[in-house]
Amino acid sequence: MLILQQLHKTFSTPQGELPVLNGIDLALDQGESLALMGESGSGKSTLLHLAAGLDLPDQGRISIDGHELSTLDEPARARLRREHLGLVFQQFHLVPSLNVIDNLRLQARLAGREDAEWTAHLMARLGLSGREAYYPEQLSGGQQQRLAIGRALAARPRLLLADEPTGNLDEQSADTVLALLLDLVKETRCALLMVTHSARVAAPLSRLVRLHMGRLKDNAP
Ligand code: ATP
Ligand code: MG
Repeated sequence: MLILQQLHKTFSTPQGELPVLNGIDLALDQGESLALMGESGSGKSTLLHLAAGLDLPDQGRISIDGHELSTLDEPARARLRREHLGLVFQQFHLVPSLNVIDNLRLQARLAGREDAEWTAHLMARLGLSGREAYYPEQLSGGQQQRLAIGRALAARPRLLLADEPTGNLDEQSADTVLALLLDLVKETRCALLMVTHSARVAAPLSRLVRLHMGRLKDNAP
């Protein structure tokens, strides 16, 4: 599903070269859910951006569902993202000018996989039925993040990449949103790679890895 091999990434910063990823190897299979932990600044978001093809590694191989990212130009990577990946970030990144149902449909439409039945099912599962015509700013933080999760899954991706998806929510909404995310991941049988700071959030996932000094270490959950 997702294979990362010997990924290296160094950033140029005002203080000089900053090596962030120093030989990352990771394989994630269909149906697996993996928690990625590590200190602030350890490179978790960088790793996720590379896995999504949003940024390029200095060295190494990234393969998503059998597609080798390095062989693709940006338009082809964007198509791969639309068709195979769901992305959820700490900031919800909803389209402010589109209402709830259009935010949800957009991703499926871009992937050429519109499915009215699935959209209606998702709306119900997200607890947003009846709020189709609301705009993102008219929703609570928890509702916005539920919508962002729904949008990420609207095109039924094979892999969901989530970067601290509950980081902006209070503990109670975070629990609800996380439970919903994990249920939907199971229901759609997509693989999950989720960055989190919380061992509690990581606990229900099938694997936990820690990023430290640019390398991944396997950990029992
Ligand atoms: P957090 O838990 O706080 O979100 P993180 O593990 O996600 O942290 P990253 O955002 O991946 O950390 O950043 C890792 C390091 O790389 C940081 O020191 C950051 O300053 C640096 N970095 C990230 N992006 C860039 C960039 N575009 N240019 C220069 N340095 C960067
Ligand atoms: Mg981060």
